[in-house]
Amino acid sequence: MKKCCGNCRQFIRSTGKPVDVCGAWGNPTTADRVACDFWMLLVKKKNDERTKYNDN
Ligand code: SF4
Repeated sequence: MKKCCGNCRQFIRSTGKPVDVCGAWGNPTTADRVACDFWMLLVKKKNDERTKYNDN
């Protein structure tokens, strides 16, 4: 996988705004920017709080 901001799961797409947001640092970024040294692909856990209400 190419290491750029757009592939990092901490990357948050902002619709209608010129820049997106890095969820890890809260800084503006763009999808085609080279990944930072802290690039980490987050993997969702099955019983993660964020997915709790999606499981039936
Ligand atoms: S700055 Fe780093 S942590 Fe933030 S979205 Fe880009 S690659 Fe991910």
